[in-house]
Amino acid sequence: MDDLEKVRNIISYSNNIVFFGGAGMSTESGIPDFRSSNGIYSEEYDSYPPEYILSNTFFKTHPDTFYKFFREKSLEYMLDAEPNKGHEWLAEMEKKGKLKAVITQNIDGLHQRAGSKKVLELHGSMHENYCMDCHKIFGLDYLVESDEIAKCDECGGIIHPGAVLFEEPLDTKTMNEAICYISHCDVLIIAGTSLNVFPAAGLIDYYQGDNLILIDKNPNVTSSRARFVLHGKAGEILSQL
Ligand code: NAD
Ligand code: ZN
Repeated sequence: MDDLEKVRNIISYSNNIVFFGGAGMSTESGIPDFRSSNGIYSEEYDSYPPEYILSNTFFKTHPDTFYKFFREKSLEYMLDAEPNKGHEWLAEMEKKGKLKAVITQNIDGLHQRAGSKKVLELHGSMHENYCMDCHKIFGLDYLVESDEIAKCDECGGIIHPGAVLFEEPLDTKTMNEAICYISHCDVLIIAGTSLNVFPAAGLIDYYQGDNLILIDKNPNVTSSRARFVLHGKAGEILSQL
């Protein structure tokens, strides 16, 4: 039996699977990730490193460059993106009662678009951006269409993206819920994350079982905790399970 077959077997016996994913889940939908060779981090932008541009400090001090970068490198891709086979497989597994939650670092909303109901968005969502003054909510299209700095059409306040920026805390309730799902599941599937962004990446330490399955297209991404590591495209592999 090859590894794919063995993983398929493990999945067929479990009704308590949890999924934990990252930007690599959406590259097959056309949204660049951060750390692949063609990802956002492969380029410097106006000589600022991307992790600095996407920080709270940079957003507060250079909102114009922040928005220009974010719009060109990420938001414009999200606007046209459709869920891929991986998102669809996860939604289907939830419908069958086998998958309990999708925990994602992504901010693109594609899991919900594919039909997943229990989605914990650790880093927020680009579909819920808010005015920092009056708290009015704006969608992704409003941010993409705004000139330079996205501003509220009611009060003129600057709009904060729905994404959690570097240096900002994660929502405690969402983190606690994610810990609860991970610490109680029998099978944990991790896909499309370099496991470099903390505290999200630290969540896998809460897993107590011995069926951790890691999927990544980069052969160097692995984990000593994983029982199976499947190297390849997440959408293609998940849809074969
Ligand atoms: P990352 O860019 O650090 O890592 C992505 C990982 O996915 C890499 O290991 C890469 O090899 C792998 N990968 C890429 N395409 C793949 C595919 N088709 N199949 C399997 N693996 C694939 O991403 P991260 O670990 O999620 O951390 C980056 C942070 O950036 C996250 O916090 C996330 O919020 C944010 N981000 C989100 C989006 C999005 O919402 N779509 C896009 C870019 C970045
Ligand atoms: Zn406002």
